[in-house]
Amino acid sequence: MTDKRTELSDLGEFGLIDKLTQGFTTHVPQTIKGVGDDAAVISISDEEALLVTTDALLEGVHFSLMYTPLMHLGYKAVMVNLSDIYAMNGIAQQITVSIAVSNRFPVEALEELYAGIKKACDFYKIDLIGGDTTTSLSGLVISITALGRAKKSDVVYRSGAKENDLLVVTGDLGAAYMGLQLLEREKEVFKANPNIQPDLDGNDYLLERQLKPEARRDIVDLLKALEVKPTSMIDISDGLASEIFHLCKASKTGCTIYDEKVPIDAKTSMAAIEFNIDPITAALNGGEDYELLFTISQSDYDKIAGNPNLTVIGHMTDANSGVNLVDKNGALLPLKAQGWNHFSGS
Ligand code: ADP
Ligand code: MG
Repeated sequence: MTDKRTELSDLGEFGLIDKLTQGFTTHVPQTIKGVGDDAAVISISDEEALLVTTDALLEGVHFSLMYTPLMHLGYKAVMVNLSDIYAMNGIAQQITVSIAVSNRFPVEALEELYAGIKKACDFYKIDLIGGDTTTSLSGLVISITALGRAKKSDVVYRSGAKENDLLVVTGDLGAAYMGLQLLEREKEVFKANPNIQPDLDGNDYLLERQLKPEARRDIVDLLKALEVKPTSMIDISDGLASEIFHLCKASKTGCTIYDEKVPIDAKTSMAAIEFNIDPITAALNGGEDYELLFTISQSDYDKIAGNPNLTVIGHMTDANSGVNLVDKNGALLPLKAQGWNHFSGS
């Protein structure tokens, strides 16, 4: 420790991770990839790799128990982790679950949480193999580690994108963020007057995307079936813009995406307009979509063309061209990655 004081908000989440981990070198030859991708990659045989990833969800930071049913929370906490395994083009196999709880929770509440975790394990065919249980003086904390497997030759890193590769996104974006806006709005209404019933009718899709996301295991299978190995891949946890920056930084490329191509569900657009948010902003900066973002060589385009799960939204460029968005009028604008900065209070 020195006398110098740097605020966490000066570095941001990713700057902090870089700073804290920059001095570490690997001592173990089996460590193929450590910090810096969606999951670590560890050699376990000539052909096979083990994938490892950890993510924590904190009450008041990542979720509010005012509107998050504990069963959904358990399910989502697993999805957040599986998504990082699928983003390496691997298959998730096991999880460990650590919880910190205060005595304000009855046993029944934690059983609900575990019912959600079990649902996820059964549906995604993974095993709960351990964890840890401790006391929390404030909110609930759930930290999950997921383990997965892949053939080494199948693993896809953030760093493999090449200039002219096509940038592809799965599903549609921005819905989880609009679901959160709806829930936050009703929370405020409820706080002001607890007698008013929440008005969430007709918003099932957006609420599900926020409360019960599904990790895209199906895409790993689909890519295999289509015989496409992406050149790079990442999952969309912090918002499309932030993830594009990660791919570009790791791959040392630039990127151009087209506003009009970004897949946004009509329900997301309608809700965004109601909240005075440009739908593209929800898609670019909203986060929590848990879709996959990947690049493919142009020669693979015919294999994915027309697939309803996959949308080409742009292409990779040379690093000097930067990261840009072509708007509806054809103007080229530099893209900004807001993502979520946990330290700035945004
Ligand atoms: P993701 O959003 O895919 O979960 P993160 O942004 O959380 O990824 O983390 C990026 C990389 O930094 C990952 O390789 C992760 O393991 C690593 N990382 C994050 N926090 C720490 C930390 N405190 N110490 C060491 N590595 C970390
Ligand atoms: Mg990730």
